[in-house]
Amino acid sequence: MRSLDLSILAGLALVLSACSTAPTTAPTAPAKPNAFPGIGLSLDELKLRYQHTYVARRLKPKKWPNGARVAVALSFDIDNASGTLARGTPGSEPMTRGQYGAIDGLPRILRVLDKQNVPASFFIPAVAAALNPEMIPAIQSRQKHEIGIHGWIHENLVELNDEAKEQDLLNKSSELLTKAMGRKPVGYRGP
Ligand SMILES: [Zn+2]
Repeated sequence: MRSLDLSILAGLALVLSACSTAPTTAPTAPAKPNAFPGIGLSLDELKLRYQHTYVARRLKPKKWPNGARVAVALSFDIDNASGTLARGTPGSEPMTRGQYGAIDGLPRILRVLDKQNVPASFFIPAVAAALNPEMIPAIQSRQKHEIGIHGWIHENLVELNDEAKEQDLLNKSSELLTKAMGRKPVGYRGP
């Protein structure tokens, strides 16, 4: 949706700039953006882009403990109303849904995990943790779960598109969660 808006704006800008230079011929339609830029890249260039996202060694062991055939990781993002607050559109429905997540949703999940004695990973936007400070102690009291960062306010990093700002938000989130947890978060999942 956003890229569509931008392309409309780009088209408008082209038309406007064409108007301001008072063309003597009919304005031509703006060129269509190249839908398949990869077609023109060499195999070496494609290889570079492909490997750019290789971030770690493979963690899958040769075999799972106790002859298990699969391993399952349960992880939860406790976004609550953070994304709604980020967009500045605090309507009653998304806000109460977010509050439900903190007040009822998380305790219900914790009870199920308790019952099955299963550990899980929780990723929390720092703002969500600050607005419902009871969440982190509730998770920590089980002594089997881990907590990671899920952005400052569930910012959309693709739309933000600003490395310095992203780093700043990550640092701020780490600081807030470290204070709330009494230890550093175990990792980061981008919102
Ligand atoms: Zn999320």
